[in-house]
Amino acid sequence: MQTKVVKFGGSSLADAQHFRQVADIIKADPARRFVVPSAPGKRHKNDTKVTDMLYHCYEMIRNHENIDAFYEEIAERYNSIIRELGMNFDMSGELAYVKNAMLHASGRDYAASRGEYLNGIILAKYLGFDFVDAENVIFFRDNGSFDEERTNEVLADELRRHKNAVIPGFYGCMPNGTIKTFSRGGSDITGAIVARAVEADLYENWTDVSGFMMGDPRLLDNPPPIDTITYQELRELSYMGATVLHDESIFPVRYAGIPINIRNTNAPADKGTMIVSSAETYDTKRVITGLAGKKGFSVINIEKDRMNAEIGFGRRVLEILEDNGVSFEHLPSGIDTMSIVVATSALEGRRERILQSITRQVKADHVEILDGLCLIAVVGRGMVKARGTAARIFDAIYNAGVNIRMIDQGSSELNIIIGVNEEDYEKALVAIFNEFVK
Ligand code: ADP
Ligand code: ASP
Ligand code: MG
Repeated sequence: MQTKVVKFGGSSLADAQHFRQVADIIKADPARRFVVPSAPGKRHKNDTKVTDMLYHCYEMIRNHENIDAFYEEIAERYNSIIRELGMNFDMSGELAYVKNAMLHASGRDYAASRGEYLNGIILAKYLGFDFVDAENVIFFRDNGSFDEERTNEVLADELRRHKNAVIPGFYGCMPNGTIKTFSRGGSDITGAIVARAVEADLYENWTDVSGFMMGDPRLLDNPPPIDTITYQELRELSYMGATVLHDESIFPVRYAGIPINIRNTNAPADKGTMIVSSAETYDTKRVITGLAGKKGFSVINIEKDRMNAEIGFGRRVLEILEDNGVSFEHLPSGIDTMSIVVATSALEGRRERILQSITRQVKADHVEILDGLCLIAVVGRGMVKARGTAARIFDAIYNAGVNIRMIDQGSSELNIIIGVNEEDYEKALVAIFNEFVK
């Protein structure tokens, strides 16, 4: 029999009605043996995700505020699900335990992780599946990085003993026994880790859209869905802000060659998007697979005459960034200029030090940091074969009256990255979309 791992996002588990839909989906296919839930998400546009409520609760405790009333609201998110599902199950003991642990300085990650922990307990009960706490099977190393080998060994061994199980997403355990979470949206990663451990035939990722669209549906007019996308293309897009799937969730499944299927909990008949290791064909008419963008970047511009002839120049500059704990995104460079694109947030508190170090250590003629850059990634495995793609992109942006501040084409010709001013983001995105898709 096939084995499928199914991950359900926050909006798919936001209330009792969604729990019913989720149970119907799981019960419709006996291959759906392992389930990874997120914490309850938004029930409507102005609602708050339980994860955000838990972060807030943690801050309240730090500020010595009384959390009784606010914690009641969190508890009610779960109690209302239990009540409306008509379950004979009392969660008050668990809820009191969690509150008490939060009050006794168990940490920010512990607080956040309880969103999926509590949801997982309810979902396991509702489905009649075993509950396997991620704390006992997902491990991090002392330096905070994910320990894939230890996790895979322990998790595979544990899940062999279960016909069906619910494993809460988003968190795991540090060597000292404390709880640590992945970054936001990290339940996608847990789903991929579980899929690898059970050698699943398919990792289904259920969310609130019918697959990956060519662009962000909140910014573009009816972007068409993508049928098939490669892991590599998807990583480029999700890293650049297409939040459907956490960009880190590719690694565990790619390693094992397990395809991912993005599906819509609210429209389970839609076939969604298949994410595969390689695809022979591409849409010859559209050429590009998708586009995504992200704000919040800065450029460090360095000018120095005859920079190109100076051996070790680039290394010394990058060493300065390394010493300051800053990683870079792109390095578009000329003969006498070097530009380094970094996340603006990474420069916080280090700007002056970095500027001074570069000026002093590499004797640059001029160094400056410019903020307010937005990066747009145009991604497509077909771009390498279709001539003139870059020209079409630049023309479209130019005709929209937008100034291009940076261009970077990956050597694999899988993507072209364009930097524009943040205020031009939507305009540039729409212009590229209209050129290729409309
Ligand atoms: P979940 O809670 O199920 O993990 P997310 O909110 O993390 O769901 O991801 C789904 C959302 O991603 C969609 O509701 C949509 O608004 C947004 N999104 C951004 N870019 C895209 C895209 N290219 N295609 C589809 N959805 C996108
Ligand atoms: N609940 C967590 C978050 O909101 C993890 C997730 O949903 O994947 O980020
Ligand atoms: Mg998500």
